[in-house]
Amino acid sequence: MITRRTAIKNIVLTTGAVALAPTLHAQAPATPAESEGVFKLPPLGYDYDALEPFIDAETMKIHHDKHHAAYVAKLNQAISKAPGLEKKPIEEILANLDSVPEEIRKDIRNQGGGHANHSLFWQILKKNEDGKPVGELGKEITKAFGSFDDFWKIFAETGTKVFGSGWAWLVWKDKKLVVEPSANQDSPLSTGGQPLLGLDVWEHAYYLKYQNRRADYIKAFSNVINWTAINDRFNKIA
Ligand code: MN
Repeated sequence: MITRRTAIKNIVLTTGAVALAPTLHAQAPATPAESEGVFKLPPLGYDYDALEPFIDAETMKIHHDKHHAAYVAKLNQAISKAPGLEKKPIEEILANLDSVPEEIRKDIRNQGGGHANHSLFWQILKKNEDGKPVGELGKEITKAFGSFDDFWKIFAETGTKVFGSGWAWLVWKDKKLVVEPSANQDSPLSTGGQPLLGLDVWEHAYYLKYQNRRADYIKAFSNVINWTAINDRFNKIA
């Protein structure tokens, strides 16, 4: 039997659900705090739910709008202590960390790394079930690792083994492709490499959907790699 009270409760719950849903589709504008600094939070470029079911909309929203936004805000705070440095692109700053004033070097490494790593991350994601590398990059991966499957095994294992927070990377370094991990938000740029593909294994990247099952997240990640975008990137830097 539906009482008046249950009926009202149902209406309230339904309305609440409807009102909540669109926020997962809309692109949130940068908050005023973020837009004040030199470095800006780049737009995600697609809907929060674009990578479902592999990466859920809620994770994408929090990851981009909160985590990445926080790196940008803290990078802007840090860089304001070194006038002139903000004129350089973040990639150039990270590639020359030694020339960053010592008192802000750690902040630039962490927050600037967080900004650069995530800016790349959003660009190389696209739903692409069972996707494989294409073009020149595809050939180079076969040359360097034997096959795509051999590459993926090393890449996934590297991501699985990162202790605590960090990344697994496919990097162009010394004219060849290598897979390497990084701790925290360290960028491959700081050790002479050009990152092509990054796998974020911080818990914030997967915990809502996968909890402690990082290996399941990594397997799912193989279905959201925009190999065309990565090949375009490879063609520009290699
Ligand atoms: Mn992250």
